[in-house]
Amino acid sequence: MEDISSKGKLFVISGPSGAGKGTIIKELLSQIEDVKLSVSATTRNPRPGEIDGVNYYFVELGEFQKMIEAEEFLEYARVYENFYGTPKEKVLRQLDEGYDVILEIDIQGAMNVKKAFPKAVFIFILPPSMTELRRRITGRGSETKEVIDLRMSKALGELSYMAQYDYCVVNGEVQEAVNRVKSIIVAEHSKVSSDIEAILNSFENEK
Ligand code: 5GP
Repeated sequence: MEDISSKGKLFVISGPSGAGKGTIIKELLSQIEDVKLSVSATTRNPRPGEIDGVNYYFVELGEFQKMIEAEEFLEYARVYENFYGTPKEKVLRQLDEGYDVILEIDIQGAMNVKKAFPKAVFIFILPPSMTELRRRITGRGSETKEVIDLRMSKALGELSYMAQYDYCVVNGEVQEAVNRVKSIIVAEHSKVSSDIEAILNSFENEK
């Protein structure tokens, strides 16, 4: 029987900056196979320790605009003062090869993906509280007070979009949050509705 769980699914993860999406995803990738994280292109400057091609593809605005014109993005958005975009070709290839692909993107981008890929699975990551969110954003040490205030007010506004997502995971304790995301992935692969044709076909072919 064809392994129906081998079909790649697209998971979109969003949430306020500082909610801990990056930490959860990093942990998740170290714990489960067959899941790939899409590396976005961005016009923002690298933070200390960030590596080109690993965390992001860091590009100039002109190059980003050329990529838009060449329709190289699955989606792109302006977030704060910079542009971010998901390179299309690689994501589609990996899904085709049977990998699950995670996009860690902002809400505008997620809503655009929803139009293009209604079957994608949308997960919203929440901090345990706004106080904790401010502590986490401040703790990074790389942002100015203006940027922190901007991100805090944006975070409040973003909460209203949670209803557009399929799942919500509160990131209080990292491993607990990772376990929840893992459960979502397993549950999505077990859904009858998404794979019913593959299941029926494989039984038909075995007759
Ligand atoms: P940061 O600059 O903190 O790495 O990311 C800022 C925001 O941009 C985060 O909410 C992150 O999820 C979002 N982001 C990162 N890559 C992409 C992308 O390819 N597309 C969109 N729409 N948002 C992205």
